Amino acid sequence: MGAGLSGLACAITLEKFGIEPAIFEKRSRVGDRFVNGEILFSLLTRPVRDCIAYLSEKHGIYLHPTANLQKMTLYSPQEKAVFEGHLGFTNVRGREHNAFEAQLSRQVKSPIRFHSEETYEGLLSHYTHVVMAAGDGEYAKQTRNFREDLTVSLRGATVEGTFDRYAVSAWLDNDMAPSGYSFCIPLSDTEATIVIAYPDDPHKEPPDPELLWDRFYERACRDLNQPLRITDQFQITGYPVGICRSARIGNTFYVGNCFGSLMPYLGFGQFSALLTGVYAAFDLAGQGHYEELTAPLRQSYEDSLVLRRAMERLCDSDYDRIVRMLGGRLGGRLIENEHLNPLKTISFLLRPYIKWKQGVTS
Ligand SMILES: Cc1cc2nc3c(=O)[nH]c(=O)nc-3n(C[C@H](O)[C@H](O)[C@H](O)COP(=O)(O)OP(=O)(O)OC[C@H]3O[C@@H](n4cnc5c(N)ncnc54)[C@H](O)[C@@H]3O)c2cc1C
Repeated sequence: MGAGLSGLACAITLEKFGIEPAIFEKRSRVGDRFVNGEILFSLLTRPVRDCIAYLSEKHGIYLHPTANLQKMTLYSPQEKAVFEGHLGFTNVRGREHNAFEAQLSRQVKSPIRFHSEETYEGLLSHYTHVVMAAGDGEYAKQTRNFREDLTVSLRGATVEGTFDRYAVSAWLDNDMAPSGYSFCIPLSDTEATIVIAYPDDPHKEPPDPELLWDRFYERACRDLNQPLRITDQFQITGYPVGICRSARIGNTFYVGNCFGSLMPYLGFGQFSALLTGVYAAFDLAGQGHYEELTAPLRQSYEDSLVLRRAMERLCDSDYDRIVRMLGGRLGGRLIENEHLNPLKTISFLLRPYIKWKQGVTS
């Protein structure tokens, strides 16, 4: 149910094992939504360093990214740090010929049934197994199988300008994205996605999204040293971030964001979504147990949640301190040391701090 990253990765893998999936997609075609740039950030997928090579070598899934990411500039209110090296990949999503979902759909042989109005219950009554790949936790929530940890608001735009397609920029600044982040991800040498993403705080008056966006847009034009002409815009509110309680219940598999692929820290979820699709197919083909195969992804989710909770307590001067530190030798070490899993390490170090802070504030 759903022909996005996880659903299509599952279908491709099932076909490799000689199982023909029935694929249901509610939209009129694959990726029929706004276009945006996304990142596969290798610091967050360790021990896998090169996701694209891993997916093709290990799982026979072939993806062409927009570019291999060689540089990231990280800004805080007063500081700036530049990271260089093999940092990952950028790619396109949405209504584009080269969007990841479009690339995957060309690798699937089974037909995709578009405009689907099939319900989960309807599919369950017709098929032996259902793979829930609808892109959010809604169905998992309805079946009482989802722990929602937060919701996120996003606002983004496609902009025209001059970009280095091998480089992205990111901002940590509470005036633009409170407890969140902002990004500029090139789609080509002349187009990029700019986006702000921040968690919704149920205990506070929501910030004025227009004000946040105006501040970010002005800052992005200033730091990127050019006027950015907006050609398209998108906005998402209440995007749920959480994780299913069981990856498989009966003959239903929860994959992608229905599993909990979306990492609470930065909202990255593509690699995990693809892997959950592959792993569900492994289980269906008798090649492994889905719960066991997804256990490391579940752990990454929990580690990322620790980072998210820590980030919610940081003020702008903390961001400045962190960016200054990362700009020094620490940043270089994190990138160069392939054996280090930064997510795991930082979350391990932060756990006692979060507990202490919780104790102080409660
Ligand atoms: C703006 C934005 C920026 C992001 N940036 C990044 C990034 O930089 N890096 C990163 O790694 N991740 C990023 N993510 C997260 C990443 O895109 C997701 O984690 C990933 O796409 C999840 O894959 P999925 O298969 O669960 O869902 P999707 O790929 O979204 O697929 C879900 C599919 O299910 C279909 N569907 C929904 N309901 C039904 C239904 N009832 N019946 C049939 N079909 C249905 C949808 O139409 C869609 O085609 C971002 C997400 C957003 C929204």
